[in-house]
Amino acid sequence: QKALVWLRRDLRLYDQAALHHALKNSGSVWLAFIFDQEILEPLIEKDSVNELTPDRRVDFIWQGLKQLDAELRQQGGGLIVQFGKPVDCIPQIAQALEVQTVYTNHDYEPSAIARDTAVSVLLKKHGIEFETFKDQVIFEKKEILTNSNTVFSIFTPYKNNWLKTLQDKDLAAYDCTPKKGQFAAIPKPLDKPLPSLESMGFCTTGIESHLPPSPEGGQALLEDFLTRIDHYQIGRDFPAVKGVSYLSTHLRFGMLSIRGLVREAHRRMLAGSMGATIWLSELIWRDFYFMILSNHPRLADGVSFKPDYDNIEWESSSHAKKLFTAWCEGKTGYPLVDAAMHQLNQSGYMHNRLRMVVASFLTKDLGIDWRWGEAYFAKHLNDFELSSNNGGWQWASSSGCDAQPYFRIFNPITQSEKFDPEGKFIKRYLPQLSKLSKKSIHAPWRSGHIELEAADLLLGRDYPLPVVDHDEARKKTLVRYSVVKKVT
Ligand code: FAD
Repeated sequence: QKALVWLRRDLRLYDQAALHHALKNSGSVWLAFIFDQEILEPLIEKDSVNELTPDRRVDFIWQGLKQLDAELRQQGGGLIVQFGKPVDCIPQIAQALEVQTVYTNHDYEPSAIARDTAVSVLLKKHGIEFETFKDQVIFEKKEILTNSNTVFSIFTPYKNNWLKTLQDKDLAAYDCTPKKGQFAAIPKPLDKPLPSLESMGFCTTGIESHLPPSPEGGQALLEDFLTRIDHYQIGRDFPAVKGVSYLSTHLRFGMLSIRGLVREAHRRMLAGSMGATIWLSELIWRDFYFMILSNHPRLADGVSFKPDYDNIEWESSSHAKKLFTAWCEGKTGYPLVDAAMHQLNQSGYMHNRLRMVVASFLTKDLGIDWRWGEAYFAKHLNDFELSSNNGGWQWASSSGCDAQPYFRIFNPITQSEKFDPEGKFIKRYLPQLSKLSKKSIHAPWRSGHIELEAADLLLGRDYPLPVVDHDEARKKTLVRYSVVKKVT
């Protein structure tokens, strides 16, 4: 028996469900990854016709694949990497290798499900089986249901049931040890170097300097986090502190196994670690949003989870567009919001507390449609993942399942005072504010002339004046959301 493993969000050679089953059932196993033209082409910047687009994710994947290829070559195999449409490439590769089965892991996005269905139909025409497995979550689809067998839409009871259902077998690692020679050499016509980033329209971005793109890199981050996990509940809300795991991008591309992470967290939870208990809860949020998307695929079409919220009238005038640009560029005049947007623009990462703050600010201070923010995050986040991103945005805008109530409106100044009390995070990204006192840094326009002068700061020149007044915006938002009052 010969098999092809089609890699997508599972870029590792250990504890990987599809790879395990391929190795178990076949004598010769090849692995392939397709840079999907249909996903990559829209990422190319329209205004840089002759230049290359710096997309950190594409670079991160590319470097990760290069390492996987090297690892496979050491074992006599190699990685087949092509740029094209999976629906063309996968059946062609499978036929050229004369495999009986293509193995892959479940993807829960509607467009990916449609793609997989199309690939499977074509493979079947050639007598090739298409086998798929759960890999990127602990529980999927309808595995966790309410007592009346319906899908959960509230997180806490979902989590309780998730924890009750969990057994050792759900966390057991898949053995992916190949027999000697099982990773077969790639036949000549298919044995090509990885398509270069440049040939696909992209360039290097330097992402590896802060996010090592491989399972080893992910493992190193994990080991570092495990020395801090017991204090997660204390530091996790403070962006200036190294309190979170920074594992989301490795998880997104499957360079780490979710089972391994849950095993670590669950064992510590049972031993009484509060930090591990809260961190595990975050991993369960991840499962929750995958489950929500797979049961409500309409969410991928941009609709609100609660349909009445689509009656809200968002600001869309040319002034609103300018405000949106100010938000994107970190020029709103609210330091915590601006520093957060700079963190995103400079690194592709944004701390969870800040994602909540900037999402609330966009929707409830600027009155701008959450979909604009969702799209901006989708373009810039290294860990962009449709289900969690949509879930996070709909949580902040109150339109989601188990979202925060519409009348709960974060105050960007008090959030700043509470979660960046010394202004350390703000100063990291807005050095022009570095001479302001910890009292003034959260709302510079409230400082007196003397302090501003002493800090060499001219508002409007060195740093913007606030683009909106929070108290007025708050009142407007309550009116805007009054269309949904009856359903909340
Ligand atoms: P940690 O705090 O160490 O958490 C560990 C892991 O748990 C994360 O890596 C992630 O996989 C999962 N997790 C944590 N919080 C959440 C959450 N609220 N929802 C779902 N999973 C969670 N996360 C993404 O992975 N991709 C996204 O595109 C994304 N977009 C978001 C948009 C908004 C508006 C908001 C409010 C949140 C979003 N999140 C997203 C969730 C969360 O902010 C990130 O997962 C987290 O900040 C990643 O950093 P970390 O790995 O250090 O997290």
